[in-house]
Amino acid sequence: MKTKRIALIAHDKKKSDILAWVLANQSVLSEFELVATGTTGKLIKLESGLPIEVVESGPHGGDLQIGSQMVEGKVDVLIFFWDPLEPQPHDPDVKALLRMAVLKNIPTACNRATADLFITSGLLNPQQSPKRVLQNLTIS
Ligand code: PGA
Repeated sequence: MKTKRIALIAHDKKKSDILAWVLANQSVLSEFELVATGTTGKLIKLESGLPIEVVESGPHGGDLQIGSQMVEGKVDVLIFFWDPLEPQPHDPDVKALLRMAVLKNIPTACNRATADLFITSGLLNPQQSPKRVLQNLTIS
């Protein structure tokens, strides 16, 4: 069965937060496929040694690459620590990424508290999309 894929992105002032979260949850994360934007991915790879697909840096199209993977159904969870206090040159890309995450019903954590909920959730199974589990629980 296909292993689920988690996308990791953090704006510059949030990189230490995402790194701390990854290091605290390294063994769980090692069961998933990981993809990250350029600078975030290189930092996580260097500090944790986790295998991770690193795309372009966010301002150079990395957010759009991860958005495109979402469109193709290749991203199951998005961890995106965006910075609410700093304007970003690639703000339209950030907005597009977050829009696609909502449109495609992808569980999205934008802060550590939510990321902690995800990582401790029984719904976060490396082989089963949390989205699908939740849909199966929906009473119609
Ligand atoms: P970075 O990109 O990981 O290359 O810094 C993140 C972003 O700014 O969207």
